[in-house]
Amino acid sequence: MSAPFPFDNSYARDLPGFYAPATPTPVTAPGLVKVNAPLAEELGLDPEALATPHAVEMFAGQHVPEGADPIALAYAGHQFGQFTPQLGDGRAILLGEVVDRAGRRRDIQLKGSGPTPFSRRGDGRAALGPVLREYIVSEAMAALGIPTTRALAAVTTGEPVLRDRPLPGAVLARVAASHIRIGTFQFFAARKATDAVRQLADYTIARHYPELAGTPEPYLALLNGVIGRQAALVARWLLVGFIHGVMNTDNMSVSGETIDYGPCAFMDAYDPETVFSSIDQMGRYAYGNQPDIAHWNLARLAECLIPLLGEDKEAAVAAANGALKEFPARFRAAYHSGLVAKIGLAGPDGEASEEDTTLALELLSVMAESKADFTLTFRRLGALAADPEAGGPVRDLFLDRDAFDAWTTRWRERLAATGRDGAATRAAMDRVNPLFIPRNHLVEQVIASATEGDFAPFETLNTVLAHPFEEQPAFAAYAGLPPSMEGYQTFCGT
Ligand code: AMP
Ligand code: MG
Repeated sequence: MSAPFPFDNSYARDLPGFYAPATPTPVTAPGLVKVNAPLAEELGLDPEALATPHAVEMFAGQHVPEGADPIALAYAGHQFGQFTPQLGDGRAILLGEVVDRAGRRRDIQLKGSGPTPFSRRGDGRAALGPVLREYIVSEAMAALGIPTTRALAAVTTGEPVLRDRPLPGAVLARVAASHIRIGTFQFFAARKATDAVRQLADYTIARHYPELAGTPEPYLALLNGVIGRQAALVARWLLVGFIHGVMNTDNMSVSGETIDYGPCAFMDAYDPETVFSSIDQMGRYAYGNQPDIAHWNLARLAECLIPLLGEDKEAAVAAANGALKEFPARFRAAYHSGLVAKIGLAGPDGEASEEDTTLALELLSVMAESKADFTLTFRRLGALAADPEAGGPVRDLFLDRDAFDAWTTRWRERLAATGRDGAATRAAMDRVNPLFIPRNHLVEQVIASATEGDFAPFETLNTVLAHPFEEQPAFAAYAGLPPSMEGYQTFCGT
């Protein structure tokens, strides 16, 4: 049998001391949930070969594929602001890396594959619900065009995992640009292992920022590069209503991908204070706090890199602070140009005028006051841009209809001033305003069915979310409001 993965394991090879060897623990009864065929193709792998019983057993941890170097990566991290010097992959094992069809190096990792030397008191396992959530939401993010880790496959283990109650166990095969986190740098910086920090920075530059290699100040450039990618990433999150939920420094990838989907969710009604995670009592990781938290996390990365920024400590700190200081403006530029595009007013190069930015921000205020659904507001505005008579459905999303009307009047003036045809504006808006997002009530329904053994809803939801910007009349219900909001709306509308 040919090897399913043409592994080339640079992390294991080049960074000894940055990980611990770890082997997946076999399970009772592996069962296939899904192989992501389009992703397999993208990776240059044969999707059918990944769905054979032998491959399913491999995903479940019964055996290690040929060419793998199974390891658990070391990392530290600030969790809810508190530093833990050793976290590491406690329930994930990196099998190795493959170079995809486009020449990009991608990690293949099993998540939930049993204990590792970093498991501390954890069981190294994952429950089916969180595995399906990560599968659905990470694939939805990819379909939205947002940098993210991907889901290559999910399997069940046939074993219960004990959380607040016994739950079916599962393993996710995850694909990532890499699993280098801010916390990976922190692990070595906390041990004052400056040579290791430099080695990791060199590896990160070679893998994720190759254009910076050999530049005069590569480590400052690396910091700037990560700042830029995180600013752009968090802007993208906000523009689709995504809440990560656990933006700890160990859950922030230096490649700029969204990573570690835990208690993540998409917002329904617009409210910047929205929090989904039950463990986030203080709202630290609320929707609207995400830019500030990213900035805070990047400051932790900067601290790790300071010893690499030159002999003169004061000058190094000043250089790092100079880079960090730019984060808010870099974030705002990305966020504002995205917002203005969402209301159909982006200039030819995507630039946002101050006037249009103010207009877009005012819409958000009206939405917040009116508890308007984030996704549907922007999507239905597109229809209104094309047809002045099509205002009903979007207007109905607002409790305060007068405020909406007043805003719309000004918006129309701005649209008219662009001289663009309404249909073209709508088409441009529909390309940035998704109709289908993984709404929490849908994800919850899918998980409940799957826990009972019915995976059909999981399949359907993935299919719908693969085309978030397209009208899919047969699946219109998937674009609808959660039942709780519908009731609220009906009540308020009558
Ligand atoms: P997370 O909150 O999922 O990002 O995980 C934070 C840390 O806890 C990481 O070091 C994980 O590897 C570890 N961890 C989470 N769940 C488990 C588990 N069930 N068993 C072992 N380690 C875990
Ligand atoms: Mg994590």
